[in-house]
Amino acid sequence: MSTIPYGRQYIDADDIEAVVETLKSDFLTQGPKVPEFEAAISNYVGSNFTVAVSSATAALHIACLALDVGPNDWVWTSPISFVASANCAIYCGAKVDFVDIDARSFNLCPIRLKEKLEKAKLEDKLPKVVIPIHMAGSAPDLSAIHELSKEYGFKVIEDASHAIGAKMQNSKVGACEYSDITVFSFHPVKIITTGEGGACTTNNKNLANRMQRLRSHGITRNQDEMTEASHGPWYYQQVELGFNYRLTDLQAALGISQLKKIENAVARRNQIVSRYNNEFESHVVTPLIPSMGRSAFHLYIVQLDEEMTNTKKSKLALTLRENGVGSNLHYIPIHTQPYYRQFGFKLGDYPISESYYRRALSLPLFPSMTEEQITHVIQTFKKSISEL
Ligand SMILES: *Cc1c(COP(=O)(O)O)cnc(C)c1O
Repeated sequence: MSTIPYGRQYIDADDIEAVVETLKSDFLTQGPKVPEFEAAISNYVGSNFTVAVSSATAALHIACLALDVGPNDWVWTSPISFVASANCAIYCGAKVDFVDIDARSFNLCPIRLKEKLEKAKLEDKLPKVVIPIHMAGSAPDLSAIHELSKEYGFKVIEDASHAIGAKMQNSKVGACEYSDITVFSFHPVKIITTGEGGACTTNNKNLANRMQRLRSHGITRNQDEMTEASHGPWYYQQVELGFNYRLTDLQAALGISQLKKIENAVARRNQIVSRYNNEFESHVVTPLIPSMGRSAFHLYIVQLDEEMTNTKKSKLALTLRENGVGSNLHYIPIHTQPYYRQFGFKLGDYPISESYYRRALSLPLFPSMTEEQITHVIQTFKKSISEL
């Protein structure tokens, strides 16, 4: 019996056809499919601009640069995320600090954010950018964070790597209703995939232009951005240091095809979560279903009891695996990583995140799960947890 993974991509005949068609076309890397994919994303999420790039990691990096994050600036995020959410600031030479999570939503806690901002103001260490995560696909309290951003003068990048297809009360995630830039990931385990890939959405034309330039070496062909008159049709100028963070047309073709199926995929994820929640409610703390809008449910994360130890949880994960059920843990608190400890972070700094880490476990959730697989996960998990 093969193990049911915690997540996996869904690729159908239309996706394959779209990539093969592009292989036969004139453009393999950035050609007509990239702007077509960008327009499709803008249209779907309701943003003015989309800049597609080679990964969400690249997207976070150029988003920080476009907001002028540099040496001596502070960037804040929460410890419960993938390391990329913090690394983007280090890439810019900036300093990282963390705000603990809310115990129930696993997202950056606006109350702790306010407390930390008040303190930072006195010490003249206010952040330039705050990066809230849409943990597991559910939106953080962005309107509260937005209010604080006006009061304390920081910018907001939403790390919505888990959350394309999610909705808030009045807008889709990616519309940047309460932020400057939103970042998506198209890694295969995420909601839609381009193999590797990511995107920034924004409503600000200057930020969009800057991110387009940073994606491609800092080069411009726009006369307005040049220091002298064009020498001719071949002419371009490098006006700042950028990167090769381009998405290929092959990937964009796959993305366009995947995006057409996103509504069904997210609806199916929500359906499976409802069924899991009903079955698991009496055994573990099940994920919150947002009362407003819709989660994209990239992950299904349960919380085990308070006394959980690594040994006990390892035993549970192994028993699940022996019975064909994959599991995983999202995430190890970033501040406890050896790389981040060099900046002075230590165990005990973010107690809610650390307690979350002891208790959390991600179970299989992906739209192409069969009824048989779902039932198998339910029965195996219930049995394994009762015997733990
Ligand atoms: C996956 C992920 C990233 C990085 O995405 P890539 O496309 O793999 O670079 C960043 N942040 C979060 C929260 C993620 O889950």
